[in-house]
Amino acid sequence: MEIITATAEIGDRIREIRAQGRTIGFVPTMGALHPGHLSLVEKARADNDIVIVSIFVNPTQFNDNGDLEHYPRTFESDRSLLEEAQTDILFFPEAGELYHDEFRFKVTESPLSEELEGAHRPGHFDGVLTVVMKLLSLIRPDRAYFGEKDWQQFLLIRDMAAAFFLETEIVPCSLVREPDGLAMSSRNAHLSVEERQRAAFFPKVLRSCDTTDKKRRVLEDAGFEVDYLEERDGRTLGAVVLGSVRLIDNVRLSETETSP
Ligand code: AMP
Repeated sequence: MEIITATAEIGDRIREIRAQGRTIGFVPTMGALHPGHLSLVEKARADNDIVIVSIFVNPTQFNDNGDLEHYPRTFESDRSLLEEAQTDILFFPEAGELYHDEFRFKVTESPLSEELEGAHRPGHFDGVLTVVMKLLSLIRPDRAYFGEKDWQQFLLIRDMAAAFFLETEIVPCSLVREPDGLAMSSRNAHLSVEERQRAAFFPKVLRSCDTTDKKRRVLEDAGFEVDYLEERDGRTLGAVVLGSVRLIDNVRLSETETSP
């Protein structure tokens, strides 16, 4: 696996790969990799000649400096997981490489990016869409892979690619869960042992057949702070805070338990 940190160098490698007529699958991540991320890499491996994964903890999508500072960084373990998953190129840029414009230019969407996650994390999706636009412009992949765990993010990126006539196919990937049902997430590492046990209650409530109002009450009674709970696009989408960790999740309505 090649590790590339400079935008000029990745640009040269992309031109070589494309001149050889080989297809590129791209998986953008913020690192602290877990099997959820690796399922995207596996899909990219199956569909393309060359697999490129980026690790970049994107500062512009954090609306809370503490969250950015404490975001888990596990480069050595990420590197060996990506080697095992037969990644060809790991792109690992510094912030100054991607933001040489100092974030003067942004991709902004309205209204979806102001709702749900966006209502609780102002500016978050400007940061996400801008960094994804930069990465897709640099790497020009045939396909780019995004997890349905971040359902709203997937919708925004899919629509952005269509709006700007990007040639990359935006491929959705199923949400990967822990055995007890908790959605895998890099931030789960910050849960205490006791919080980790309680966290699995969140997807359980999302899947229950209760109304969203009832789900909210049940979660609040169990000590979760509920940011939002909404039914949209045939899914129940939610975000809660447990201790100092914010969890997001969504389940298809067809996965909802039917009443006994
Ligand atoms: P992140 O590193 O959190 O920015 O995530 C990078 C990509 O992995 C995004 O497209 C996420 O939606 C996806 N992802 C993260 N966790 C999961 C999961 N549990 N299942 C499926 N995809 C995931």
